[in-house]
Amino acid sequence: MSRIVMKFGGTSVANLDRIRAVAARVKREVVAGNQVAVVVSAMSGVTNQLVKWCQELSPLHDAREYDTVVATGEQVTSGLLAIALQEIGVEARSWQGWQIPLSTDDAHGRARIEGIEGAELIGRMARGQVPVVAGFQGIGPDRRVTTLGRGGSDTSAVALAAALKADRCDIYTDVDGVYTTDPRIVPRARKLQKIAYEEMLELASVGAKVLQTRSVELAMKAGVRVQVLSSFDDGSGLGSDLPGTMVVDEDEIVEQEIVSGIAYSRDEAKITVRHVPDRPGIAAAIFGPLSAAGINVDMIVQNISADGSTDMTFTIGRTDLPRAQLTLAAHQGEIGYAELLTDPDVAKISVVGVGMRSHTGVAATMFTSLAAKGINIQVISTSEIKVSVLIAADYTELAVRALHTAYGLDVV
Ligand code: ASP
Ligand code: MG
Repeated sequence: MSRIVMKFGGTSVANLDRIRAVAARVKREVVAGNQVAVVVSAMSGVTNQLVKWCQELSPLHDAREYDTVVATGEQVTSGLLAIALQEIGVEARSWQGWQIPLSTDDAHGRARIEGIEGAELIGRMARGQVPVVAGFQGIGPDRRVTTLGRGGSDTSAVALAAALKADRCDIYTDVDGVYTTDPRIVPRARKLQKIAYEEMLELASVGAKVLQTRSVELAMKAGVRVQVLSSFDDGSGLGSDLPGTMVVDEDEIVEQEIVSGIAYSRDEAKITVRHVPDRPGIAAAIFGPLSAAGINVDMIVQNISADGSTDMTFTIGRTDLPRAQLTLAAHQGEIGYAELLTDPDVAKISVVGVGMRSHTGVAATMFTSLAAKGINIQVISTSEIKVSVLIAADYTELAVRALHTAYGLDVV
């Protein structure tokens, strides 16, 4: 017997037929003798619609009322799934965030979980009842409904698994696991049986959007074993019995590849600040105002100077580009730059693997493979388990394919 948290994403509960299929999938685990708690997302598309309504009424709407509105999607699916379970003879009860309670801080719209009261749910599970928890929502210190940020029901599920001391958190989604890269670009991409938390975090932060980043951070901190698997893929409508990908501690992975995955992101933009004086304080003068404006800077290079002036090149999220331009223009006096160049047509390609800690030559292989395809590298950044390069967006697919082959990741 295991205690399992099963989480179903929006596509898995998109209509009543799928909700029935989810109920049957849950029943299978219950019949197998497991204690089960379920976390659900809103039906796919519902949260987008709710967000849009808030924006249409007022672009600067009150964040508390936004939460009141957007949390309803999950309330609907939690009730519907509880009904569907009862209908096939499984004892089930829905739970909203405030009823558990799942307490958060007061950052409405992007709240962080502060605690979950698990005892009541554990007691009910022991008596054979299945709690069906509305993901994405909690209750703040002001006793109003909060939500955890888009994609937040992954985080609800992992936090619940930690609070209930579950053996596993199974996340059912519309992909059947984590791949070495995007299978739409590389048909010979491989599904990984296991991936380390840290690798998953790096992949999530560089564009492989399988799980909400925060859920992976939490899983790593709390030691929750997370399994990513598909709700559909064996055609029975009951979800696959094929294992998905387990996200686990690095020590659990025996045969570690040097590179586990290759990710890309087209959500970046490049800015070059030209001819700034090469003196102490110049980086602070550029990046201070950007940070004050809430703009995240990612890769940075500073050129060497010949005549006492230098160029600073860096990347930001593409949606922040207009704001970054305005911010830098407003501080042109203090920074003292001559010209601002921007390029939204860039892509960041990253190779990720904990094996890099103990192997040399990973970056060299990357640079050599890209050079062989005639792809120019504009900016480079590295961490202990990741090498990222910025290239022209047009070469994204070519680069990903070349690297996938170069690191021996292709299915043979
Ligand atoms: N329904 C919410 C969203 O679409 C939360 C989630 O699905 O994870 O962002
Ligand atoms: Mg999601």
